[in-house]
Amino acid sequence: MSHRRIARQTIARFLAVFGGIGLAFSPAAAGTVAITFDDLPIFGLHATATEAGAITTGLLDGFRSHHWQVTGFVNEIQLAGPDREQRIGLLRRWLDAGMDLGNHSYSHLSLTKTPLDAYIADVARGEAVTRVLDREHGKQERWFRHPYLETGPTLAIRHGFEAWLKDHGYRVAPVSMENSDWEFAEPYDAAIARHDEAQAAAIRAAYLDYTAAALPWYRKAAVTLLGREPAFVLLLHASRLNAASIDALAAILDANGLRSVTLDRAMRDPAYRIADDYVGPDGDEWLTRWSLTLHRDLPYASLPKVPAWIADLDQKIETAAPDAQAPPVK
Ligand SMILES: [Zn+2]
Repeated sequence: MSHRRIARQTIARFLAVFGGIGLAFSPAAAGTVAITFDDLPIFGLHATATEAGAITTGLLDGFRSHHWQVTGFVNEIQLAGPDREQRIGLLRRWLDAGMDLGNHSYSHLSLTKTPLDAYIADVARGEAVTRVLDREHGKQERWFRHPYLETGPTLAIRHGFEAWLKDHGYRVAPVSMENSDWEFAEPYDAAIARHDEAQAAAIRAAYLDYTAAALPWYRKAAVTLLGREPAFVLLLHASRLNAASIDALAAILDANGLRSVTLDRAMRDPAYRIADDYVGPDGDEWLTRWSLTLHRDLPYASLPKVPAWIADLDQKIETAAPDAQAPPVK
């Protein structure tokens, strides 16, 4: 996740935000978070269909016991292969458990690096199975989450893709809180795979420490920007690390006074009507986008940093085994 404060191309579009849409007052939103998981069915390394089943069980059991209403974003490329039906069954289990599914494109392409027509074709391909499962479960809502949170490097590409989303009934799922879980997830998988229990435990502890530090930063940053805390949208990934951490994550959300609501409910917060005018190569979360629109700085200097040893481990995995089937992504 980039929080770089580099010069950006923004559109000079000003809104009467505070007067017009009641930005500063939304009592229903206080203390709520829409929890979202990306890269379904499984994010990470070394997951056989059996392991993927165990990870899915860990996630869904955790959601149930903590009353989380989660929306999961699918990369259907992961369903390809000899155990396709088993992997489709993992997605079906999310819906059976009362969760929602959205489209995260077929193969997790970068909108910054991919021609628009190829990108759109990939997103269209990414809904084939999920649509059928949704229909089986009587669900119609369609959500899209941009891979890498990249919304378009030029205005023409951004508008072109947004027009396609609108024509196809999609709503964009923003992100306004995250904990860089993707950076910890693959080092954790690698430690588990080589039975290094000590390192797995150290990575998990570092992950939870980082999460406990990061979430308050997003709350504080939002107050700096909006004068209040909005209904947050938290980005996590469907990883082995998160499956092993749901109870601890739930305790951190509780400590921050955040209770789970649906994505649809969170989107009713007027904060999500603030214009997002960012056009450029970066994939930023929405507080950064709003800060550009509102011309207010976020307290980036106090944003906790992922420990260097975790970033190093993740980087080594990326360098050693770039894997198109399991995109090492956010
Ligand atoms: Zn992703």
